Amino acid sequence: MAQAPTELTGDQLRRLRETFAGDIVVPTDAAYDGARRLWNAVHDRRPAVIARPSTSAEVASLIRFAREHDLELAVRSGGHSPAGHSTCDGGLVVDLSRMRGVSVDPATRTARANGGALTPDASGYDLTPDARSGHDRRDGDRSAAGRAAG
Ligand SMILES: Cc1cc2nc3c(=O)[nH]c(=O)nc-3n(C[C@H](O)[C@H](O)[C@H](O)COP(=O)(O)OP(=O)(O)OC[C@H]3O[C@@H](n4cnc5c(N)ncnc54)[C@H](O)[C@@H]3O)c2cc1C
Repeated sequence: MAQAPTELTGDQLRRLRETFAGDIVVPTDAAYDGARRLWNAVHDRRPAVIARPSTSAEVASLIRFAREHDLELAVRSGGHSPAGHSTCDGGLVVDLSRMRGVSVDPATRTARANGGALTPDASGYDLTPDARSGHDRRDGDRSAAGRAAG
């Protein structure tokens, strides 16, 4: 039998909505199952809340919220972590799917990618094959950040 999800208390949810203006999904929302689902169905976890920040300041406020409320925190970019580190049970998932910006400055030969940027987000730039797609060109929905963190 599936374990009941750990939910935020009413006070916690109110506090989260006061400090975070972005989109959040909780277990009572119709979108919850879709929002928590990962590419690898083995990691069938039930976070208390999934939040989708759009700025680094919003990410910071979510980290503060998790710390203040002693919640497990998981960060998700492409969601392909073989170990399932991009989700959790009963905690807060920071879903970076709204932070996919990429910019390239050819003069300084510098590329910057937001935490949720996936391989196709860099497809408009003439980057080296390694920078474009790691060691396998099929990995279109994985992120540079996720690859770096494992
Ligand atoms: C079947 C399979 C095939 C694979 N093939 C390849 C391959 O061909 N080439 C390759 O390079 N890799 C491959 N990998 C490994 C893959 O690159 C890593 O699992 C990578 O972590 C997935 O990236 P993601 O964006 O999906 O990460 P996620 O699952 O979103 O995250 C992975 C880890 O990074 C953390 N994380 C993600 N984004 C951030 C962030 N912005 N800030 C801080 N922490 C963050 C997460 O919390 C998690 O711990 C493969 C994995 C699988 C399961």
